Amino acid sequence: MTKIDDELHQRALQVPIQKISWNAVNRYQLDLLVRRDDLIDSSQSGNKFYKLFYNLDAAKKSGFTQVLSFGGAFSNHLYALAAAGRERGLTTIGVVRGERPACLSPTLRDAEAWGMKLHFVSRDTYRLKSDARFLADLRQIFGDFYAIPEGGANEAGVRGSAVIGHAIDQQLNGHYSCVCAPCGTGNTLAGIAAGLPESKTAIGFSVLKGAGDLGVTIAKNRQSYLDSLPDDVDQGSGGSWRLISGYHGGGYGKKLPSYLDQFWRSFENETGLLLDPVYSLKMFWGISQLAAQHYWSPGSRIVAVHTGGLQGRRGFNREKSNAN
Ligand SMILES: *Cc1c(COP(=O)(O)O)cnc(C)c1O
Repeated sequence: MTKIDDELHQRALQVPIQKISWNAVNRYQLDLLVRRDDLIDSSQSGNKFYKLFYNLDAAKKSGFTQVLSFGGAFSNHLYALAAAGRERGLTTIGVVRGERPACLSPTLRDAEAWGMKLHFVSRDTYRLKSDARFLADLRQIFGDFYAIPEGGANEAGVRGSAVIGHAIDQQLNGHYSCVCAPCGTGNTLAGIAAGLPESKTAIGFSVLKGAGDLGVTIAKNRQSYLDSLPDDVDQGSGGSWRLISGYHGGGYGKKLPSYLDQFWRSFENETGLLLDPVYSLKMFWGISQLAAQHYWSPGSRIVAVHTGGLQGRRGFNREKSNAN
């Protein structure tokens, strides 16, 4: 595999991969290695750093001074975008689902303090987020901008996420069994899978209640990334992937059922690793369940990507959901 050697790749190689002692997997003679992408940047935490990287490069290279994207009140993506915009000298615009509340979520309060212009739209209007006419209306209001889809889920997002796969393989020198990641749009999983060598598998844990055609999207995104590589980059055919559903704990951003709430506390107490309630919590829950079902053979080395999002812990009231 030709090494793709740019700033993002260099950053990714510095991210620690830590062996965690956790009885839920260790009792089945499994090793758990956690890739700490929650540490890659203080505010652009986790996978959003990767998904935004080439998007912002593209915006700058094409001469845009404004970047617009979409998200909910607790969006890790808008939070990361606001921070990145400030750092890279780009004006950011966040189109937020729902009316502006009297009291902003901590996420949006920070985003606004970092200079993001917040534009609240009704849920019905928000559904038009990929509609060309809606974007044209937004250009009437804000002037021209580079648009990034919700969650940074586009080709540049997959390309950034592929760097995670490359980095893991390089850092561990191939000594691991599989790579796990939580899945929302599945963009990150598609990238990780594409970045792994052919012999490895990326396992995605869907945080959505109905995964719909998520698998189709993942397959398509993985393949179009591989197809887009220049001929002199020998990426092989990339790693394979698998999507696991059933560990969403009631659905995206919903109030946690008590078993998950308990799992959250005991995981953090035992490992000292903090989890976000919307994504990584559900992945680790799924990993513990698969381990108990003997999904992996003894001696397997499981890499779990901590995709960050810890800022969302602040707004996550255990009584309420973060899905609004
Ligand atoms: C956005 C996000 C994900 C999901 O990424 P996708 O590429 O949409 O699958 C996972 N974890 C965290 C912490 C996120 O913020």
